[in-house]
Amino acid sequence: MQTSSTSQPLLRIEGLTKTYSQGRWWEKRFQSRALDGVDLTLETGQTLALVGKSGSGKTTLAMCVAMLEKPDSGKLWFQGRDLVSLSAPERALVRPRIQLIFQDSAAALPARFSAAQIIEEPLLIQQRYSAKHRADLGLDLLAKVGIPPGWANRQPHQFSGGERQRLAIARSLGARPNLLILDEPFTGLDLSVRGQIVNLLRGLQAELSLTFLYISHDLDLVRQFSDRVAVMRLGRIVEQASVADLSSSPTLGEIQPS
Ligand code: ADP
Ligand code: MG
Repeated sequence: MQTSSTSQPLLRIEGLTKTYSQGRWWEKRFQSRALDGVDLTLETGQTLALVGKSGSGKTTLAMCVAMLEKPDSGKLWFQGRDLVSLSAPERALVRPRIQLIFQDSAAALPARFSAAQIIEEPLLIQQRYSAKHRADLGLDLLAKVGIPPGWANRQPHQFSGGERQRLAIARSLGARPNLLILDEPFTGLDLSVRGQIVNLLRGLQAELSLTFLYISHDLDLVRQFSDRVAVMRLGRIVEQASVADLSSSPTLGEIQPS
């Protein structure tokens, strides 16, 4: 992890709002404001944990940052450029730099593909590598996440849950991201596997200068894994603290340890 007070932050979120219309369009009362003016800053190379009760807007924020949902208003300054106002070609260039790993990423891997194909697919879409280069990069990425090269031809069902999550991580790294958004990535994995993947992510962070936005319910893991914590409630950030100050937090009591 690197700290830097002089360089610009990787991401600065300003006044982000997002309303979902539920039900039919004339039933205005069913609109729900998922994000209600979010301000948040992510420093390069750091891990910011985002915690909050279910329904507080964490996944919506993740989707907006990953450009999979369009916010109603506000700014998303990523490497100094506002993601919300990018042209389509600019978006296509920037989008790979922000990768989203979620709880079901492992389950969502294409079932009929081999591990090698799963990892090479995003490289194929980028159209800048030869087949040989892609295969070599794929093996490198497998090695980076601790999967033996001899397993490259296995299909997802031949891996454990933790190994599938490693594959999902390797696949996302092929896009050379700056920011990984990890939305409850350890849910459903047992304790020792969580520990291994935490260690893996930490090593990758140091090696590749990755910045993490880590969405979690698990305060023990937040303590192990994060530099700062932001608490979300009803679509707003209500508190921010360094991990060292977690124990004196006034709002963290409402988050249930899982
Ligand atoms: P969290 O990840 O903190 O549990 P979410 O971002 O998933 O919270 O949800 C925030 C609010 O937005 C909730 O009230 C939820 O019902 C609503 N919401 C989330 N996604 C959608 C959607 N696709 N359509 C309508 N409402 C949604
Ligand atoms: Mg969520």
